Amino acid sequence: MRKWLLMLICTLSFLSAIVPSGAFEKIEPTTFAPLYKADVRVDPAGKRVTGSVEIRFWPKDASHAYLHLYPLTFTEEHKDDLWDELLGKHAGLGTYDSNRITVQGKPVAFKRIQDVIEVPLVSAKASEPVMLKLYFDMTLPQNEGRMSYDEHSLWLGNWLPILAVFDKAGWHLDPYEPIGDPFFSENAHYQVNVTLPAAYQLASTATDKAATVDSSVQGEKTYRLQAMNVRDFAMVVMDSTYHSLEDKVGGTNVRTWYRDKDFDTQAKQTHFAAVEALRYFNSQFGDYPYTEYDVVRTGGSINGMEYPSIVFLDGRHFTQEGNSGIVTAVHETAHQWFYALVGNNQVEEAWLDEGFAEYASLAFLSDKYPRLGASRVLGRLEHGTTVSSYAQEKLRPWQPLRAFPDNESYSALVYSRTTSMLWKLREVWGEERLHEVLRRYVNNYRFGTASGAEWKAHLSRAAGEDSSAFLDYWLNADWSQKDAAEEWLQRQRQNQRNLGQPIQDGTIEK
Ligand SMILES: [Zn+2]
Repeated sequence: MRKWLLMLICTLSFLSAIVPSGAFEKIEPTTFAPLYKADVRVDPAGKRVTGSVEIRFWPKDASHAYLHLYPLTFTEEHKDDLWDELLGKHAGLGTYDSNRITVQGKPVAFKRIQDVIEVPLVSAKASEPVMLKLYFDMTLPQNEGRMSYDEHSLWLGNWLPILAVFDKAGWHLDPYEPIGDPFFSENAHYQVNVTLPAAYQLASTATDKAATVDSSVQGEKTYRLQAMNVRDFAMVVMDSTYHSLEDKVGGTNVRTWYRDKDFDTQAKQTHFAAVEALRYFNSQFGDYPYTEYDVVRTGGSINGMEYPSIVFLDGRHFTQEGNSGIVTAVHETAHQWFYALVGNNQVEEAWLDEGFAEYASLAFLSDKYPRLGASRVLGRLEHGTTVSSYAQEKLRPWQPLRAFPDNESYSALVYSRTTSMLWKLREVWGEERLHEVLRRYVNNYRFGTASGAEWKAHLSRAAGEDSSAFLDYWLNADWSQKDAAEEWLQRQRQNQRNLGQPIQDGTIEK
C-alpha cells in the first residue's frame, strides 16, 4: 500500500516537473524538484565525457543561479598533505571546457567562482521555471578519488553540474575540500542519455535494468536512464571484465559489480552484506524507495563513497582477504537512508549523515555479525569518548569541514563521537525505541533535507525534554555540560524504566 502511494506521488511529482508551466499556477512552485536532462557521450579510451545538461528549475533568486561544477577542482593543482591524501602521489589533472551556457535558449555570460559558476537570470520569477543549458567537454583526472579511471572502468561521482542550495541562510557555494564529503544537494529528477562503445556497460543512480538501450548505431549503444527523487546522479562505466551478483530485497534489485580477477569470496561476502544490510535498514528505518541498488567496485583508494542508489567501493575490498568489504558496504548502504533519503549540509554538519550512517551500520553488524559488530562498537566508543585533547584545540563534531586539520580528528569526532552519543542513547532507551525515533526522523525528512537544529528538536520531542545539554556535550564538545549530559541520560534511563514496568495485567506498557 505504502509503495503504491509512494509510486503515485513520485509519478505525479515527476510529471509535474515536465508538463508546461501554465499548469502550476495554483501550486506553490518552490515545492517542485528540478529536472536534469543530460545527453552525454563517454569515450573510455580517451577518458573523455562530452555532452550537455539542461536543467529546468524554479529559481530561488531573481537575478542569479549557481551551479557547482566539481570537475573544475581537478583541472588545477592542489598541493598540501590533505590533497595528497585524496589525490594520491600520481595524480594527473583533468580538463573541463564549458564555453556555452544558455538561459531560456539564449547564450549568457557567466562568472566562475572557484568550482562554482554564477549564471545571470533576467528578472526570473519564482513561479516560472527557468531552462538552463550547459555544454561541456571534459577529460577525467587521474587520482584516488570519486571521479577518475583505471584500465577497466571510469567512475563518475559529482561529475554533472548541480544547482547550489539556497535556503534560509542564503546560497551555499562551498568549494570542494579534501576532507569529508563536501556536498549539499536537494532532491531532483534526472533523465540521462549515455552513449558508450558497444563493449562497455554501466551502473548508475537510475534503474539501469529498466533502461531502454538503443543499439541502432553500429559499434555503440545509448542508455536512456531515468531517476526520480534523487539528490545526485553518479555512474560507473565498466568494460567486459565486470560482472554482477544480484539478489532481490523487497522491491529492490541489489547488484554487486566486480571484476574477473577479483576474489570471488570477497565479492560474495560483500554482496551478501549489502543485501542483508538493505533488508535490515528497510525494517528499521523505513522501506527503501528505489527499485535498484548498485554496489560497484572501482579503482582508486577512496574506500567507499555513497550516491543515491549506487555506491562505490574501491578495489582493495575485492582483492584482499578480510572484512573491509563487509564493513564498507554496510556503512555506504546506511547512507542510503542518512544522506540519500534524508539529505543534509555535509559541509557544515557532516556528523548528521556520517555519524548516523555509522551508528546504523554498527547496529546492523551487531545483529548480523555479532563478533565483528562488538569489536567495531568498542573501537568507536574508545575513539569517541577520549577526545578531550581535540576539545582543548576547540575541535568538535559540529563544525564545518574546513575546521578539521586532518582526517584523524575528522574521523574521531564526526564518526566516532557522534556514534558514541547514539550508542549511549541506545543503552538507555533500547534499540527498539531509538530506531523508532530514527525511523520517524527519516519519515519526516524523506526526499528533503534536515539540519542539526531539526534533529535536536526531533530528539527533544522524543525525549520529552530539551536535549541541548546532551548534544552540547557530545557534538559541541562542551565539557562544562558533562554532568548535565549525564543527568539527562539518567533521567531518560529512569523514564524508560518507568515505561518498561510491567503494568497490572502483566503486559509491558510501551
Ligand atoms: Zn560515510
